[in-house]
Amino acid sequence: MSKLRFDVVQDAFKKKAAAVDTPDKKTSEYFGELVFNREKMRKYLDDTTFKALVSCIDNGEPLDHKTADSVAAGMKQWAMEHGVTHTTHWFQPLTEGTAEKHDSFMEYDGKGGMIETFDGKALVQQEPDASSFPSGGIRATFEARGYTAWDPTSPVFIQDDTLCIPTVFISYTGEALDYKTPLKKALKAVSDAAVPICRLFDPKVRKVWSYLGWEQEYFLVDEDLYAARPDLMLTGRTLMGHASSKNQQLDDHYFGAIPSRVAAFMRDIEIAGYKLGIPLKTRHNEVAPNQFELAPIYGETNLSNDQNQQMMNVMNTIARRHGFVVLFHEKPFNGINGSGKHNNWSLGTDTGTLLLAPGKDAMGNLQFVTFFVNVLAAVQKHNDLLKASIASATNAHRLGANEAPPAIVSAFLGRTMTAVLRKLLEVPSDTPIEIAGKRGKSVGLVEIPEIFIDNTDRNRTSPFAFTGNRFEFRAVGSSANCAGAMTTLNAAVAEQLILFKADVDKAMAAGKPMNIAVMDTLKPIIRSIIDVVCFEGNGYTDEWKAEASRRGLDVETSVPEMFRAFTTPKAISLFTSLGVYTEKELYARNEVKWETYTKKVQIEARVIGRMALNHIIPAALAYQTKLLQNISLMKEVYGDGYAAMAGVSMGFVKRISELVGQLREQVDAMVDARRAANKIDDEYLKAKAYHEIAESLFALRRSIDKLEEIVDNDMWPLPKYRELLFIN
Ligand code: ADP
Ligand code: MG
Repeated sequence: MSKLRFDVVQDAFKKKAAAVDTPDKKTSEYFGELVFNREKMRKYLDDTTFKALVSCIDNGEPLDHKTADSVAAGMKQWAMEHGVTHTTHWFQPLTEGTAEKHDSFMEYDGKGGMIETFDGKALVQQEPDASSFPSGGIRATFEARGYTAWDPTSPVFIQDDTLCIPTVFISYTGEALDYKTPLKKALKAVSDAAVPICRLFDPKVRKVWSYLGWEQEYFLVDEDLYAARPDLMLTGRTLMGHASSKNQQLDDHYFGAIPSRVAAFMRDIEIAGYKLGIPLKTRHNEVAPNQFELAPIYGETNLSNDQNQQMMNVMNTIARRHGFVVLFHEKPFNGINGSGKHNNWSLGTDTGTLLLAPGKDAMGNLQFVTFFVNVLAAVQKHNDLLKASIASATNAHRLGANEAPPAIVSAFLGRTMTAVLRKLLEVPSDTPIEIAGKRGKSVGLVEIPEIFIDNTDRNRTSPFAFTGNRFEFRAVGSSANCAGAMTTLNAAVAEQLILFKADVDKAMAAGKPMNIAVMDTLKPIIRSIIDVVCFEGNGYTDEWKAEASRRGLDVETSVPEMFRAFTTPKAISLFTSLGVYTEKELYARNEVKWETYTKKVQIEARVIGRMALNHIIPAALAYQTKLLQNISLMKEVYGDGYAAMAGVSMGFVKRISELVGQLREQVDAMVDARRAANKIDDEYLKAKAYHEIAESLFALRRSIDKLEEIVDNDMWPLPKYRELLFIN
């Protein structure tokens, strides 16, 4: 076994970068090649069909059967020119990743032969069996069937030989069983709420877009080393492993030169992404060894999220071509940084104004401050819910574990915006918010720079930070579907904007001019948030935990407990009033979350238990036997004086017995705890019991890691951290 590990490590180290088949065209020439975008629509659809489809996409107009048939025919023609033989509805159930069920284009032609068919009905709707997907009890009490329905706002794309149609996934009784449905509802809600406010400033605004720019962090591991680690294979993270002597302490990985094997992988995924029309922009090494990041140019939230899901699939597949496995788990390795998926988020009008960036004049700045303050108010009111929206069994290892993010949702504004808000409280409501520098040296003016260029006071410890023209929600987990966080954030902001607009309307009805009505409404909000959700300090300290609790922010650290934020009266009112989730959906989704939490911890507990008994204890005992042979030889050679000579061996023999005994006891206790937890029927209580088990795994791993420190390197059966993390 030891020989095997040694060979695997040697082979992994010798691997060279795989060749990349770079297209001999400029990126712009093949960008979007595999997407049925407007350019393809124009080419493959007749004029009437094209116009009907565009109006369906842009204005939500329904498509009639005949038009759907024509759209399907055009898509089929385009797809077959790319060698496509199958089609699938592509959806995002409440599991990790996406789901697809492929149907071939083949049909009998009625004349004894076969023919390729694809009609409007197949494009618009499919009926996959919903009973194998998590539904939180919805399917148990109602019909087992569910259906998928085309989301025309997200373009159809080709993956290998299959035409993929992005869809929502709904139960027969109408409840959403996926991430996309509520996200689309929240995006509509935020637009509907924001437009009337924008119209105070520009009557031409008809729609407000929510934008998302995700930053996907991930680890790469050599696939042969991965295959030698049952814990990585079954849980996506290492459940044991002593820290490597060198890890990230020299800060030499972040933004360092990208290793050639990894660079080849990155080029390959970028090419695949560009073909799918995904505007990838940034790639770099992250803080931890073997950790990397990928980010696109931001885009409309629903599409951008689909693209993130597509990219995760592409990365999984292409990694294998390069002899890697991608780890999207939030904490694959103890003692070094975990992975997140920062969600850069903003709102913008269909007239091209970014609502979270400074304006071109005083009115533009007032509009900016209006949205800025209302976002903060929404984050404050629903800080518990936002945390719940990013909580999971895997993200729990980042939350509160002394790395981004702390398990408290606060907002970082930066020095400039903090000063602006404080200043606004002091000056009369009709004071214009000037562009800095335009009026010479300022005394008593409220000023905002045209662009925030000062990134130096970025606060990496903040889970929700203003970064110049957007907020960056940093607490989202690397394996998560961004829709969870984006649905909650957009809904919370929508609710706040509606309340705000109602107050402004009242003030204007009482005769106040618009700018004064707006500022008079903003002031009490600023007062209520500036010393509560706004926090500029270090989010990792214990003082902050105490302070946040005094401020009334949610400081809960147990994930099963956090989920309950979704069913408080405040949350139910938020989601039902906007039509984002029904009360039944909220309860059902929490059932799914608790169940998933329980299962993940259960799998980890089983894996670590079995590895302790089948890998670790046998290796430790084998080494102990070797030590005992050494002692026995000492005795043979030196007779009575052997004890002084064999002291080291005897010390290790004793230590191994202690650790192995302790480990055995820990495993037994964990198995008992699991047995007790499994008897609990209520999903919430069961998840709470499993939370205790999750906590107990730390002690168990400590015993194993101590054994790793002692046992003969040749006899250790698992690739070690230093081997997993430094091979490129
Ligand atoms: P950093 O690591 O400095 O945060 P990156 O360049 O890695 O920055 O990622 C920033 C992300 O934010 C990109 O996806 C970018 O497109 C996105 N972004 C920039 N401006 C906005 C905006 N107004 N709204 C949403 N996302 C934005
Ligand atoms: Mg960022």
